[in-house]
Amino acid sequence: MDPRDDSPEFKTNLHAPWRIPYIRSLAGEQDGCFLCNALADPDADEENLVLWRTRRCLVIMNRFPYTGGHLLTAPIDHVASLDELTSETRLEIMDPTNDCLKILALALRAEGFNVGINIGRCAGAGLPDHIHLHIVPRWGGDSNFMAVLGDIRMVHQAMTELRAELLTAGEELKLPGPCHAG
Ligand SMILES: [Zn+2]
Repeated sequence: MDPRDDSPEFKTNLHAPWRIPYIRSLAGEQDGCFLCNALADPDADEENLVLWRTRRCLVIMNRFPYTGGHLLTAPIDHVASLDELTSETRLEIMDPTNDCLKILALALRAEGFNVGINIGRCAGAGLPDHIHLHIVPRWGGDSNFMAVLGDIRMVHQAMTELRAELLTAGEELKLPGPCHAG
């Protein structure tokens, strides 16, 4: 067994085998911070799976999701802890997070959510230097949903389509961020 398969992130989360390439990639140096890279290049929002931006935050789809519809909200600041953010940013990040829940409930009929932050690599943070908040939609009996849709449809083919669906849901809900997203 690859010793990295024993990493906390691999062991402590939902079984999501399509995440293995991502987890392995953590062992090598990536091309900088994917959140900062996305922030710096608004023209590539679709390619980077950015949903929308607020003044101090970014909403982006997780390219290596635990389930289809796994979203991230992140501050524009490249910092490792909540404590390093301004109070305004800490407060602001909850609004797009709330919008994500509403969009996922409408677009994917999510029935529940896991929302949380992994702080530190030992806590499962894949990108420990840029704090971000995970929003993972859940369904009753969702292991079946993941097996059918997670691996094949959501991850490999339809991330861009799903992005469009989520933005449409945001417009239907008249949420300020998605209504101005490209
Ligand atoms: Zn960053």
